[in-house]
Amino acid sequence: MPNRPSAPAVFLGSATDQGGFPEPSLPEVAFVGRSNVGKSSLLNRLAGMRLARVSRSPGRTRMVNFFEIGGVHRLVDLPGYGFARVSRAERSAWEGMVLSYLIGRASLVLNLLLVDSRRDPLALDLEAFTLLRRSGSPTAVIATKADKLTRSAAGASLRALRDAYGEEGAIPVISCSTVVRKGPRRPPPGASGVGIVQRLIAEKVRAWR
Ligand code: GDP
Repeated sequence: MPNRPSAPAVFLGSATDQGGFPEPSLPEVAFVGRSNVGKSSLLNRLAGMRLARVSRSPGRTRMVNFFEIGGVHRLVDLPGYGFARVSRAERSAWEGMVLSYLIGRASLVLNLLLVDSRRDPLALDLEAFTLLRRSGSPTAVIATKADKLTRSAAGASLRALRDAYGEEGAIPVISCSTVVRKGPRRPPPGASGVGIVQRLIAEKVRAWR
């Protein structure tokens, strides 16, 4: 990795329960979503480097992964869901692990639920949203892979997602793409949504104390 003047992202560790989580000494932003939704891609963009290699190594996809960004805040990669045919026991283990992080975590400033902008709200996504809301911390919904839609389809998708999750405007629903594309579906400059997510994170991090 090239040397960087500012502190890069640091992998703090993985854990499955509260005993293994780091001290809640910096503001934390939690990411959750169905597997393949684009969570690693967004984490990498926000960190400015590849974190995915770490959190995807065997076993860690089913753990809570902590990354410290510039010594200022943390990105917390919660385990994905929606693996084919998980048993009831695996489902409840996932839920227990996610709740053990979400409930009572004093440093949790923002939850980000990632959903695919090409799909109608899925039952599992709505269940994950309900879990995130139990944390008592603010939640936002990120509609990923927006570049795969035409502008009008992206607008329709956002309206449907706002109906499902938006709670009359109380929950931000942000259209996002981590892919830079050329051609007719290329978003206008600054419209990829990543900047909006960065500003939301910065606002919540600043307000934490
Ligand atoms: P994760 O399983 O949620 O961590 O998902 P990944 O970040 O690994 O992404 C899953 C697949 O979707 C990969 O093939 C990515 O290249 C692709 N992907 C992720 N984000 C985007 C996006 O914004 N646009 C497009 N077109 N593809 C994306």
